[in-house]
Amino acid sequence: MDSDISRPHVDCFSYEDGKLHVEGVAIETIAREYGTPVYIYSAESVRRRWKLLSDAVTPLGVQICYAMKANNNLSLLRILAGLGAGVDLVSGGELERARVAGIPGEKMVFSGVGKTSEEIRAALEGEVHQLNVESVEELKVIDEVAGALGKIATVVLRINPDVDAGTHPKITTGTRKNKFGIDYHQVLAIYEFAARLPHINVVGLAVHIGSQITDLTPFRQSFERLSGLVEMVRQRGYTVERLDLGGGLGVAYGAGQRIDVEAYAKVIGDTLRDCDCALTIEPGRFLIAEAGALITTVIYNKETDGERFSIVDAGMNDLMRPALYDALHPVWPIIEPTADQRATPCHLVGPVCESSDTFGRFTSLPRLKRGDRVAIGVTGAYSAAMASTYNARPLVQKVLVNGDRYSLIRRKQTVADQLRYELADAGHAL
Ligand SMILES: *Cc1c(COP(=O)(O)O)cnc(C)c1O
Repeated sequence: MDSDISRPHVDCFSYEDGKLHVEGVAIETIAREYGTPVYIYSAESVRRRWKLLSDAVTPLGVQICYAMKANNNLSLLRILAGLGAGVDLVSGGELERARVAGIPGEKMVFSGVGKTSEEIRAALEGEVHQLNVESVEELKVIDEVAGALGKIATVVLRINPDVDAGTHPKITTGTRKNKFGIDYHQVLAIYEFAARLPHINVVGLAVHIGSQITDLTPFRQSFERLSGLVEMVRQRGYTVERLDLGGGLGVAYGAGQRIDVEAYAKVIGDTLRDCDCALTIEPGRFLIAEAGALITTVIYNKETDGERFSIVDAGMNDLMRPALYDALHPVWPIIEPTADQRATPCHLVGPVCESSDTFGRFTSLPRLKRGDRVAIGVTGAYSAAMASTYNARPLVQKVLVNGDRYSLIRRKQTVADQLRYELADAGHAL
């Protein structure tokens, strides 16, 4: 994998006076103050992405529920909540975080293929707007838990429309071979079953076909399938009043294309305007990916077999998308390369002891020296959220920029934090 992108192509990141800025703040200033690696987020980017999408879909009456698994940082959640976002949750932990961020239950949708009884209880006690259900067994458990609490659970059925989103196999969720959703051939039978359960109120259908989708055809196909199912379920005399259209809206990691939100909104309008349902979408990546960058410092350079390697202080544990999905993120030097600096192709790699700990091969970067810093761009989504402590590496710090001000929004973890969970003497005493 090669990348030849070396200048920012996203909003709120640009070179000014030879330095890479996030809004009005030079990244160098933040890196000097806090050290690296550090994730930096732009508040204005989040606001602009929200406005772009909400201007397109709000005229259709669509409610946006941010899929918080993309990035569950409380400060970022508060920005989105302040803009009017609800949230799409996939765990009890996310439910607690969303509550801490001040998001009311009525703006929460609880998705996920494996909700435990405890998570279902927490969701019902927290008065979440709806549970998106993916199996008959789950329906039975929700009915039981709701019964024990003396409540009626509001649910929609997530269908598997058997549409291939044409995206990376690890982020495709809407084909029959995936674990997600209810086979659409069984939807009517399961809707009838749900309608008979005493503590369930089944009110609609949901789909989510995958992530990082830029071609509108799979969206159109799945929304058309949804529209057909609404008609079929209604013909049997059941109520369908809510449709959840999922997320999956793609962003531009490099020169690639972004989703066209106007055209996406038009697909929703064309396929579902007449269905007389309350509509929800659950974008994660679209709202947050372009707002983030991971800043890292070159530790060493070396050459092997004619290839140059720059070893940086961020690794696959901080950003695992390249290792997990073969993702290629753009890399921008935080000091603007001058016209006379020759590009020197290099592999940017982390310090973790795995060959998959690489961010790719970059052909237009200037020759990097020890101590130089670069920003790994478009890392606002599924980046810090997937970080681990592999190699006993602490989770990195996060800084939020707003205009010409900035603030730490998550402290760096320490090894002492990690050790606090170990019971070393207990093992020794056995
Ligand atoms: C992950 C997920 C989303 C968000 O996907 P993006 O590609 O980030 O928009 C939405 N809905 C469900 C059910 C998900 O699992």
